[in-house]
Amino acid sequence: MWEGGYEGPHGLLLKTTDRGVKYPLTPGHEIAGTIDSLGEQAEAFSENDKVLVYPWIGEGLCPACRIGEENLCDKPRSLGVYVDGGYAEYVLVPSYKYLVKIGDIDIDSAATLSCSALTAYGAVKNANLKPDDNVVIVGAGGLGLMAMQLAKAVTGARIIAMDIGDDKLKAAKEDGGANDVVNSKKEDPVKAIMELTDKLGADAVIDFVNASKTVESDMQFLRRRARLVLVGLFGGELKLSLVSMPTRAYRLIGSYTGTLSDMIELVSLAKREVIKPVVSEKFKLDQATEALSKLKDGKIAGRGVINP
Ligand SMILES: [Zn+2]
Repeated sequence: MWEGGYEGPHGLLLKTTDRGVKYPLTPGHEIAGTIDSLGEQAEAFSENDKVLVYPWIGEGLCPACRIGEENLCDKPRSLGVYVDGGYAEYVLVPSYKYLVKIGDIDIDSAATLSCSALTAYGAVKNANLKPDDNVVIVGAGGLGLMAMQLAKAVTGARIIAMDIGDDKLKAAKEDGGANDVVNSKKEDPVKAIMELTDKLGADAVIDFVNASKTVESDMQFLRRRARLVLVGLFGGELKLSLVSMPTRAYRLIGSYTGTLSDMIELVSLAKREVIKPVVSEKFKLDQATEALSKLKDGKIAGRGVINP
C-alpha cells in the first residue's frame, strides 16, 4: 500500500491502483481499540468496550459474502485498503458485526490477530492437515511462527520449519514448536525434506515467502496428494510440469487472510494463551514512516504496533 504495488510476473510492478485502491488513503488494516461511540442500530456492544476490528469487509451480496467469506468478496471494502483504516485516532467501522470483544488481551497485541495471525490461521486451515502429516512451513518470520503455533495446537501435524536464517530457525524451534528445521541456504532443501520424510515428501507445504525460488523447490518435495498453500506476497512466477499435476494429484491453493469466524476463533485461542502474539516494538502515529521503513529493512522481529 505504501509503495503503491508489488512484484508481478516478469518483474513487472502490480499497481494497487489497478486493483481499485484510491489514494489518498489512511492505511492500517490491523485495528484494535476501544469503542468511542455507537450507531443507533448497534447491539451487544457498549462505549469503552475493548474490541478487535475485522477489516476484510465485503459488500455483502456476492457468492463469497453469502457463505461468510467476505475476505474474498468480488467488491471488497476492506478497511485500510479500499476505505480509510487505522493509522488514526478514530476509525469508522460500518457495522458492529465486524467487532469482536477481546476481554483481557491488551489492545496492542490484539491488533496483530486481524491480519497476520488470521492469514496464518487461514493458511493452516487451507492445508487441511491431519495428525500424521508432515507439513513444511517455508519462512519462519512473524507469520510462519504463528502458523507453527496454530498447526501445533489445532492439528497435531509434524512441523518442519524452513528458512535461510539460523536465528529464525532457532525461534521456530523454541517459540513455534517446530519438530525439525532446515536451513535452505546451507543445505539442499529437497534432499533434506526427503530425508526427514522417509523419501515420501511433504504432505503439505505452506509457503509464507511465495517467491519463484521457494516455490520451485517446494514443488520438488511434495508427496502424492500434497497441498501446496501459497500465502506470501513476495511474487514472481512459476513453471509447472503439467503432467505431474494429475498423476501426482497435487493441489495448489492460494490463501488470502481469513473469515470473520476464523478471527473469532483466534481471539478465543489468544484469550486462552494457546497463541501468543509477539509485539516487539511500539510507535506513535507520527512515527508511521519510521515504523514502515524499519519493517521494510527487516529490523522488526515479531510485530511493530502504531498506537496513536
Ligand atoms: Zn461480497
